[in-house]
Amino acid sequence: MSTSTSSVKEFLSADVHRMFIGGAWVEAKGGKAFEVRDPGEGKVIARVSEGGAVDVDRAVEAARKAFRTSGWATMPANDRAVIIHRLADLIDKNAATIAQLESLDVGKPVPQAAAFDVPHAAKTLRYYADLSVHTRRREPIAVSGFDARTVRFPYGVCAFIFPWNFPFLLVGWGVAPALAAGNTVVIKPAEDTPLSTLYFAKLAEEAGVPKGVINVVTGFGEAAGAALSGHKGVNRMSFTGSPEVGKMVAEACGRNLVPVKLELGGKGAAVLFEDIDVDAAATALAGAITLNSGQVCCTATRWFVHEKIMDRLVNKATSVLKGIQIGHGSDAATQMGPVVSEKQRKRILNYLEKGEKEGAKFLLEGGKASVKGHEGGFYVKPALLAGSPDNVCARDEIFGPVAFVMPFKKEDEAVELVNRSSYGLANSVWSADLDRANRVAEAMVAGNSWINAHNLFAHGIPYGGCNLSGCGGGVLGPDTLNDYFRPQSIVRPL
Ligand code: NAD
Repeated sequence: MSTSTSSVKEFLSADVHRMFIGGAWVEAKGGKAFEVRDPGEGKVIARVSEGGAVDVDRAVEAARKAFRTSGWATMPANDRAVIIHRLADLIDKNAATIAQLESLDVGKPVPQAAAFDVPHAAKTLRYYADLSVHTRRREPIAVSGFDARTVRFPYGVCAFIFPWNFPFLLVGWGVAPALAAGNTVVIKPAEDTPLSTLYFAKLAEEAGVPKGVINVVTGFGEAAGAALSGHKGVNRMSFTGSPEVGKMVAEACGRNLVPVKLELGGKGAAVLFEDIDVDAAATALAGAITLNSGQVCCTATRWFVHEKIMDRLVNKATSVLKGIQIGHGSDAATQMGPVVSEKQRKRILNYLEKGEKEGAKFLLEGGKASVKGHEGGFYVKPALLAGSPDNVCARDEIFGPVAFVMPFKKEDEAVELVNRSSYGLANSVWSADLDRANRVAEAMVAGNSWINAHNLFAHGIPYGGCNLSGCGGGVLGPDTLNDYFRPQSIVRPL
């Protein structure tokens, strides 16, 4: 057995996984726990403390105390950066363990978690730690008659609610800028996938992050999530998840006038012109729709294809998708794992049924998949649909390996079709004509437009959405660090 496999076993051997509050591992006040399953087998792999409003109170109080007394908020940025770097180093050191844990919890193939999710989170921590060292805390304001300056302070307690599709990576995206700015945090991971977040807290403890600076409350959205988003002791809120819940969180924050960042769902489009390498684009899009079993907020789920290349593109994409190896995340041959839960699988199958009723044509059937030796797992096959842009499967976020293909003739028509969506997270345009590609990239209304690729993430390039996909500045950009500073002007008449 490899060291990482035995570390995962050891981690999972706890009777009940406790929450991390004020630097201590504690059970929920109510004494309740919930089950976490391996979606590849359908079996329970852990029991986790079910935190509620009382536990959220404890966590927020611990974070408030740490903000006032731990020295985290007031220490020089480079001292904080040293600790954050230490945490990033520990993530790298334990990368194989975290990747296995993430795969077991979410269902994604271990190599994908090892190549992307885990190192990306470590890089995010380093990026914001370094940026914070080079960010001025005091900026003079040149206004005649006054000696004035702006000073940037951390807000206080920043709360985070995360979804289940990229639990570890999103913790990095979320908390790294908040911590680097000197805030303390309370994290509520998704109930389906809390394990890697608890592991993150364990590493933070090992890295010497002061007690109470990072707190994790595990539990359900309606209880722990709702209590956190409506808590008066929180100074800033960040929510990543569905627009439906995002609206509830924003309402709760609005009642307390707490600023909120919303990173929500999407219905990403890819516009494919006739001058592209059709096979390469079809292969890339087949990869995009099966990445994380299609449970990716920004992935390309609507393919607008120039009519001249439609047949070739569909033929290639269906042949690639048919060949995708579906299996358990820990099997080396697996290219696409299960979806996260039976609930999610039902959602996908329901959408396929509704789409068919509304007249969608199935270019590739999709549906339930069964994997030998893992019959209890939540597997689905990739599906490719065609039909009207008004079809429910062309409009709604399905969050599974399903793409909807539609033809177009003219550039304007393609842009209009893309912009019909009520979402606005990410789209891509594919063309050898860079003038055209840039024009279309700017005309598509969303937080992100990619050219000749889909799903691009780099530290320093802002990632966020508009319309139903969110608001509040997004993540990953240099400005995200500023979002976690409270500006204050200091003024003296001359
Ligand atoms: P979800 O909205 O159901 O849940 C997200 C989180 O909110 C979970 O932790 C859940 O427990 C919590 N929650 C549920 N009800 C709550 C309530 N009443 N009050 C407070 N919190 C509550 O989303 P999901 O199914 O976990 O994730 C999928 C969604 O997330 C998709 O829409 C996807 O596009 C989106 N997403 C967006 C991004 C992005 O960066 N824009 C990234 C990943 C996922």
